[in-house]
Amino acid sequence: MNQNIKKIEVSLVASPVRSGFQDATRKVETVGLCIVEVTTDQGLTGIGVTYHEVGGEAIKSLIDGYYAPKLVGRSPFETEVIWEELFHYARGVGRKGLAFCALSAVDIALWDLKGKILGMPLYRLMGGTKRNIPIYASGGWTSYSDEELVEEAVEMVARGYRAIKLKVGVNGGRDIQADVRRCRKVREAIGSDIEFMVDANNAFHAADAVRLANRLREYEISMFEEPVFADDIPGLAKFAASTDIPLGTGEHEYTKYGVRDLLLGHAVDYLQTDITRCGGFTEMLKIAALSQAWNIALAPHAMEYIHMHIAGAMSNTVFLERLFLFEDITGRVFKGAPLPVNGILEIPDKPGLGLELDKEFIMEQNKN
Ligand SMILES: [Mg+2]
Repeated sequence: MNQNIKKIEVSLVASPVRSGFQDATRKVETVGLCIVEVTTDQGLTGIGVTYHEVGGEAIKSLIDGYYAPKLVGRSPFETEVIWEELFHYARGVGRKGLAFCALSAVDIALWDLKGKILGMPLYRLMGGTKRNIPIYASGGWTSYSDEELVEEAVEMVARGYRAIKLKVGVNGGRDIQADVRRCRKVREAIGSDIEFMVDANNAFHAADAVRLANRLREYEISMFEEPVFADDIPGLAKFAASTDIPLGTGEHEYTKYGVRDLLLGHAVDYLQTDITRCGGFTEMLKIAALSQAWNIALAPHAMEYIHMHIAGAMSNTVFLERLFLFEDITGRVFKGAPLPVNGILEIPDKPGLGLELDKEFIMEQNKN
């Protein structure tokens, strides 16, 4: 129990996205992970992770140069105190964005360490139980042809997923007819039993998002994600009030303060905050409490192998997302990362996060 932090190491890994995937507002060029390893004076190592499309080097240098020196000699059990200290240390330059990705990765590593020291999986440490977590498959880029989109949707169902999410916002959100046509084709191909959600990645102005949502109603869309710019809380509220398709948002939100504003603004039905961005487990526990106070569903964004622990602990977690785009890099970085079977993820019983790094792959990626 009386272990103190001795060493912090940060590694970057990246996999280029060659097929030129695009959503409504962005071309995806790289998927990068920033891995933090915090080792104690007794040789136990906690793993933390965050991800980025741009700016991995900035995350690494912030941790190496500024956060790590604050951690050496401290107890990894001081997660609350350390979070508060690092938050105020960087508050003038980073209450969102890359600085928060850095804080999230550090916090996750400390939680992993707490679990490992206690010999306890994180879901159990947070008061949860070993639930089976429903996972939905996520992909369906706007750069796909109609045929490619339908093909991927059918593949998701063939792999056993009972819920899928695809992109809308073709041509930057300027071709609503195409979005309606593509959703019709997908619904026809997957049948009526599969849950079908869409993600517009901030593409629309609220009025156009409502127009699209109302045209998609007949295809039984069970969640419409980020219809408008993530910071447009009035636009999100207008969307929520104007359609009966539930609204997902929060993957671009940081801290309990950001979530408070979404909730006060009536701007979310499915809260999608991401532990690897929003401030780690320390902040996510508070965010989860807020979501419960508002009786809102928690549906964290991507990184299902991290989020499974909060899903085991928080009963308002409805499902987790498995991004097909992340499958390759996740499989390389973590040895035997848990895989969903028929759309269900079983939380492993190992201590902490229950993850093991492929050190060889990480060293290979960080050679120079
Ligand atoms: Mg999304």
